[in-house]
Amino acid sequence: MHAVHQLYFKRKSQSTKPFRARGCKVNRCQYCQLAMDNCICDIRVQTGSKCKFVLLMHDIEVLKPSNTGRLIADVIPDTEAYLWSRTTVDNKLLQTLKDERYQPYVVFPEEYIFDNRPVVKELDSLSTSKTPLFVMLDGSWQEAKKMFRKSPYLTNMPVISLSNDTLEALSFKSEYFLRKASKEGQLSTAEVASLLLQLNNDHLPSMHLLLWSELFSYRYQKSVCQTNLANPDVEQRYQAFLSNLPSR
Ligand SMILES: [Zn+2]
Repeated sequence: MHAVHQLYFKRKSQSTKPFRARGCKVNRCQYCQLAMDNCICDIRVQTGSKCKFVLLMHDIEVLKPSNTGRLIADVIPDTEAYLWSRTTVDNKLLQTLKDERYQPYVVFPEEYIFDNRPVVKELDSLSTSKTPLFVMLDGSWQEAKKMFRKSPYLTNMPVISLSNDTLEALSFKSEYFLRKASKEGQLSTAEVASLLLQLNNDHLPSMHLLLWSELFSYRYQKSVCQTNLANPDVEQRYQAFLSNLPSR
């Protein structure tokens, strides 16, 4: 079990009534949240990374089967996950953010920053002797804005933003379609993480996470019995990726 699995079971045990997700009648795997016959758990592997991720998850986000923050923890070892609260903060999270080994960045779009804090967006500006630690605000767009505004421990942290220029430079096109994005071109949490890894020249885990997220989306569509599935070759591409992985 990784950090998001643990958080999922903890949050679920606190629920007084079951969370009614779309497609709630589907019999899901409790780990990957896909329908049992589409479960991807037995082909899940992790890739080492030069970066670390912290997921700050908005309350019911961790219960949503379509959540993609979980995919980061699937692929990147040592990912931490916390439930966000306006009034309390986990001590372990504060310790991680203060840890001298890491350079934390909160990931947030530049146009919504309301203060004068530094924004990192250049491709080569991540060079630091410390391990980059990316704090991902995992929730709906409205929830992420609230988390950004109402978390005092994030206010002294530089922001990293993926600008349109950066996306263009990386020739990136979102394959995210599980939820109706409230903004054209909005990326999923897992896609953003993959791009951050790419910015840090961490290409293998970046590619791995993107493929894993495409595979998840594909199996998710199958789970809810959609037809005309996008990305039908992703199973073969993922298997090819696995067979080319350096032995660990
Ligand atoms: Zn599974």
